[in-house]
Amino acid sequence: MRTESQKLAQNTPFETSLHLFHGEMSGPVVMIVAGIHGKEVGSIYAAQQLVKQLRNHRLTIQRGTLIVVPIANQPAFKKRVRGKPDLNRTFPRSRGGKATHEMARALFSVMKKYKPVWYLDLHEANGLSSKSKHVLGQTLITNPGNAAVPVVRKIIKQMNKRVNHPSHKFHIRLHKLKGSSRTAAADRIHAKAVTVETCWSLKKKTRIKYHTQVVQRFMQEAGLIKF
Ligand SMILES: [Zn+2]
Repeated sequence: MRTESQKLAQNTPFETSLHLFHGEMSGPVVMIVAGIHGKEVGSIYAAQQLVKQLRNHRLTIQRGTLIVVPIANQPAFKKRVRGKPDLNRTFPRSRGGKATHEMARALFSVMKKYKPVWYLDLHEANGLSSKSKHVLGQTLITNPGNAAVPVVRKIIKQMNKRVNHPSHKFHIRLHKLKGSSRTAAADRIHAKAVTVETCWSLKKKTRIKYHTQVVQRFMQEAGLIKF
């Protein structure tokens, strides 16, 4: 496995690290972004741990390439706030549209360059999806008709088999959110694009665990790792 690190939005307040892990064999590109919302720390720590594990060779990419941006919105993360404007509404909204935020521009240029087959955006939300249809905690979200749908359903099934608390069970949501990185990845890059949402009210350790498990299942599904 070959490892590379780059800086995005260099010499700006948004400067952040981009990590690339190339497997020995060719295969798909999977891109994982966390911290588009700076206070969703469970997702950020999970992405940071993933990078650490790969750097320490406790986890290896066998084929393809994994791209990880653990902290997409550095100024928001430093203050532990969601971020204003909401970075996840500033990605290109239409075919010819442009990103309206320098960090969205930087992330979208990575998407255009590497053309990920899979795009995962890690978040945390209020409420438990097992209790209400109107909340996003413990959900995997993709766009209606996205090629990710069957895999999302499969991974939710696998996750829910092992989730001990019934209230922690994951559910699918199908939604097109204009200006979000997921919808830009789906519409403009034709990626299988998924937002992973854990629930705020769970312990940080639990949220990190769920993010890690979901991400590893997608990496396995894409053929990057073997369990
Ligand atoms: Zn979020």
